[in-house]
Amino acid sequence: MTPSSHPDPETWLTAFNRAADAVRDLLAAVKPGADRLEETGTTGEGGDRTLVMDRDAEDVIFAELERLHDAGARFTALSEERGTVDFGARDVLVVIDPIDGSMNAKRGMPHHAVSIAVATGEDVATTGTMADVVCGLVADLGPDERWTAIKGRGAWLDGVALKGPAKERLNGDGKLELVAIESANPIHVMASGEALVEHVHRIRAIGAIAISLCAVAGGRVDGMASLWRCRAVDAAAGQLVVTESGGLVAFGDLADPLNNPLDLEPHSPVVAARTAAGLARVAELPHS
Ligand SMILES: [Mg+2]
Repeated sequence: MTPSSHPDPETWLTAFNRAADAVRDLLAAVKPGADRLEETGTTGEGGDRTLVMDRDAEDVIFAELERLHDAGARFTALSEERGTVDFGARDVLVVIDPIDGSMNAKRGMPHHAVSIAVATGEDVATTGTMADVVCGLVADLGPDERWTAIKGRGAWLDGVALKGPAKERLNGDGKLELVAIESANPIHVMASGEALVEHVHRIRAIGAIAISLCAVAGGRVDGMASLWRCRAVDAAAGQLVVTESGGLVAFGDLADPLNNPLDLEPHSPVVAARTAAGLARVAELPHS
């Protein structure tokens, strides 16, 4: 195992930022609306209908991964459209959502992100979980904010260290002041209605799980919950940004919060908050 075959976190994050720049430039050249709505006619490994925009974004990210591979890096990639791609090693896994918040991107709504994370460990490509993630980037291409995290070292917004608030804000009734919900299908919102009324003063539906997680990290909201099961590609980078900001994340089981496989199956909802008390409350919101 040579240093060049296993890049350090800074090398990964520099490459991911370059990839995000390329996706940003790609989207800037395609007008929101009809052009961005064009479908390839196929379905991605993640199960969604593939848009030309999603496929092209994935292509420019993989071009960056191929450059790293040519420079000696060895890893496996897991991406929303292509699925698993072998770059020569099973102990490093790069987890990619080329565009989280595709619907926002295609309709011209601001928040949509490139989300890329790296997990390491013996055979992590087969058995990895969220707990194995060591660095990640969420690049919100609406405001062009770059959220990064390195395990054990911290989280940053545009290079400035993030120290999220130690507490959540509560309204006069003791409810969480502002909570982001994802997978905001009205069926799920209805099913979560009583818990939302009990715990939440105001809701925001941003439309991208990675970005809602970063909003918890930045103290912009007091918690987040996907109301339905999320996929690892949506949450792998954002969950590390939250925990490295001092916040808490759970995938289903609060007693074993990061034991969510790094694959393309939707296993459980993701919830995040600033404190254990806040996490217990947002964990009551999903119904899956
Ligand atoms: Mg996507």
